[in-house]
Amino acid sequence: MIPAMFGQPFYVGHLGRTPVYVGGDILIMVALVWFWTQGGGILTFLTSLSMLLVAVVAHEGGHAAVARALGKQGVTIVIGAFGGVCIYAPERRRLSDMCIQFAGVTTNFVIAAIAWVLLGAGGRVELLIRDETFLGFIVFLFWWNLVLGIFNSLPIYPLDGGQAVLTGSSTLMGDGPRAKRLTLSVSVATAIAGVALAHHFGMLSAFTLVMVLFLLYQAFNDLR
Ligand SMILES: [Zn+2]
Repeated sequence: MIPAMFGQPFYVGHLGRTPVYVGGDILIMVALVWFWTQGGGILTFLTSLSMLLVAVVAHEGGHAAVARALGKQGVTIVIGAFGGVCIYAPERRRLSDMCIQFAGVTTNFVIAAIAWVLLGAGGRVELLIRDETFLGFIVFLFWWNLVLGIFNSLPIYPLDGGQAVLTGSSTLMGDGPRAKRLTLSVSVATAIAGVALAHHFGMLSAFTLVMVLFLLYQAFNDLR
């Protein structure tokens, strides 16, 4: 996902054998969820926020688990404003990088699928899902994992999809500026198409625009 923007991250515990840190900019995430769930009450806010954190940690945990399985050193998770980032010592092994890059969104899609089955099977597992509060958790678990999975799959650097484009094009074209230029072009084109689509469907918000500009700023910074 996206690296923390500011603040020295503080240690909160281990996920398996991977240390997890939280940046002070996580307060932006909390504020955004508060803004999005306005009118829904405190319970909706807490349900949404907790399930977003579960989806973010699961996403980074997916990256971390595959990175560890592939023998990467220094695997660390940092959670921040717009999600998190899984750090590991870089190596020049493209296939393993690709596997790690896809592990985050794969984890999100698997969890979303399980939540969807649980919701669809509500009639059959009535005892499990009868509770309204519990049902709310499963609904947010489904949506946040679906949203994070789709969003991070977008081929916009530095999202996972964009990182995969860079890894793939570097494999084909070598590490030179051509692969970076191609990744930057794909990122800009996808961002423009995304904004145009959102506008077309009347779903373009200030948040979307800020997010897109923030991503493109990082893309230009890293790839030019
Ligand atoms: Zn990711």
